[in-house]
Amino acid sequence: MEENFNPRTELTNKESDFDKVIRPQNFEDFSGQDKVLENLKIFVKAALLRGEALDHILFHGPPGLGKTTLAHIVASELGVNLKITSGPILDKPGDLAGLLTSLESGDVLFIDEIHRLSPVVEEYLYSAMEDYTIDIMIDKGPGARSVQISLNPFTLIGATTRSGLLTSPLRARFGIQCHLEYYDSSVLFNIIKRSAGILDIEIKDDAAMEIALRSRGTPRISNSLLRRVRDFAQVRGNGIIDLDITKIALDALNIDKRGLDSIDNKILRTIIEKFNGGPVGAGTIATAISEDTGTLEEVYEPFLIKEGFITRTQRGRVATDLAYKHLGINKIQDENTLF
Ligand code: ADP
Repeated sequence: MEENFNPRTELTNKESDFDKVIRPQNFEDFSGQDKVLENLKIFVKAALLRGEALDHILFHGPPGLGKTTLAHIVASELGVNLKITSGPILDKPGDLAGLLTSLESGDVLFIDEIHRLSPVVEEYLYSAMEDYTIDIMIDKGPGARSVQISLNPFTLIGATTRSGLLTSPLRARFGIQCHLEYYDSSVLFNIIKRSAGILDIEIKDDAAMEIALRSRGTPRISNSLLRRVRDFAQVRGNGIIDLDITKIALDALNIDKRGLDSIDNKILRTIIEKFNGGPVGAGTIATAISEDTGTLEEVYEPFLIKEGFITRTQRGRVATDLAYKHLGINKIQDENTLF
């Protein structure tokens, strides 16, 4: 079986020293997401001026766009500690209580994949977020009683790729909610140049642009591709990343010319080949590719819409001419539309 390099999972699994070195440390280093950044800067400044804990923040948007990075930056700009955990790890209220009671005044607690919190842990979080208190059960059986503990004021930063799965009581407790968007290639270009600079990699501008265009609008993918292309440049070339070696590397890695991955292509092919180009409902496409409708709508579709491969109409999703061209499929005109 052909092994396809998948930059999406590649870097999540091996989130590495490389990542620590190139992760932006402050607002100045962070490119793109201008609106989000502008607002965050104001909220951080206001919290510092008042000497209060910053309001709780929810970052939502597809993977690899900078949610974790922004949590690090917010904590560092506030000059406080950051504790990191994730929804699936926090399976018992006791684990959450341990974390919350260890927070110092103003600290940031980052919960990744917050949509995957168990309902009992989530409920626990409500009072912690609202008035910095938690109820802990002492003893078991007939002697069990609950004791209320006060916490230091803190900021919860939640991140989710699936905001649709968040319950409304939890969502309502985040005073600040920011949606992260896919990046334009010009911003990715700057991110690639910055990473290359930090890692002392020589890269030509046209090569950086080629990687940017093939990164699915995602900085994590840009950085991951930069690493792989560097390997090719060192082994097959003279160590300098130019356009030729970049194209050779990206083609060898089966990275699509427009940055689409295998699931993106499967979605387009399904709409075109199984549903005659659409319109077809999201639920039907999801079933056809064995994905969950929410993941299709929140994780895959936004990029395909942004890049103009599909459009969303009232009757469902429609593949555009660009999608046909991308897959090299001729569009068969519907007889009714010919005249
Ligand atoms: P998420 O939490 O949304 O999945 P991360 O914050 O882990 O994404 O970011 C993934 C990678 O992309 C990290 O290596 C980070 O350094 C890089 N990155 C993300 N956003 C930016 C940005 N705006 N500028 C520079 N690098 C970024």
